[in-house]
Amino acid sequence: MLALFDLDNTLIDRQGGLHAWAGEFTRSRGLPEEAAALVRTRLRSRAHPDDFRYLREELGLSDDATDLWREYVEGMARSVQCFPGVPEGLASLRAMGWTLGVATNGAAAIQRAKLHATGLASLFDAVTISEAVGARKPERALFDAAAVACGASLAAGGWMIGDNPATDMAGASAAGLRTAWVADGREWTDGPHQPNVVAASAVEAIEVLRKLTN
Ligand SMILES: [Mg+2]
Repeated sequence: MLALFDLDNTLIDRQGGLHAWAGEFTRSRGLPEEAAALVRTRLRSRAHPDDFRYLREELGLSDDATDLWREYVEGMARSVQCFPGVPEGLASLRAMGWTLGVATNGAAAIQRAKLHATGLASLFDAVTISEAVGARKPERALFDAAAVACGASLAAGGWMIGDNPATDMAGASAAGLRTAWVADGREWTDGPHQPNVVAASAVEAIEVLRKLTN
């Protein structure tokens, strides 16, 4: 059985990593705490090289925007951590015969850097990143590419595990996958597509999938 996983705030604590990196980065430039807040707000939902053209202006930095992006990629890869129990859970699911893929929106450089730095990359059969395939969740094309990269097919069914109601849950449901929502303390309120499973964390969602195979 195929299980596709979202990356940010599902398997890894992107918000925690961003909080730490923004503080470290702005301190390194002698900027005040308000600057860290501005960086966090700008990069909260996603980060792209263009964001650093904006931040360079807003923060009055002389650095080249491309260098700032590189600094972000390296710094975030160092800062982000997996949620506790995630590597062990993924390894146990795979040992049961599940095929595991990452299906993530984002720039390829930063997503790959985070997957390698956290050691997650080696736990998956394939990694599919929106920038690399030219389609984004919730588009079916992204889920299709992720299934094919794993040597599977959406027609054979499978699961999507993620934290975003629109891109992960509604998108995967429309692509014919069953869905497990990582609630992280939130109540489900978004849209008519109630997920098949509501879990507190990715580790809890993995436990549900493991029981399906038992
Ligand atoms: Mg996410």
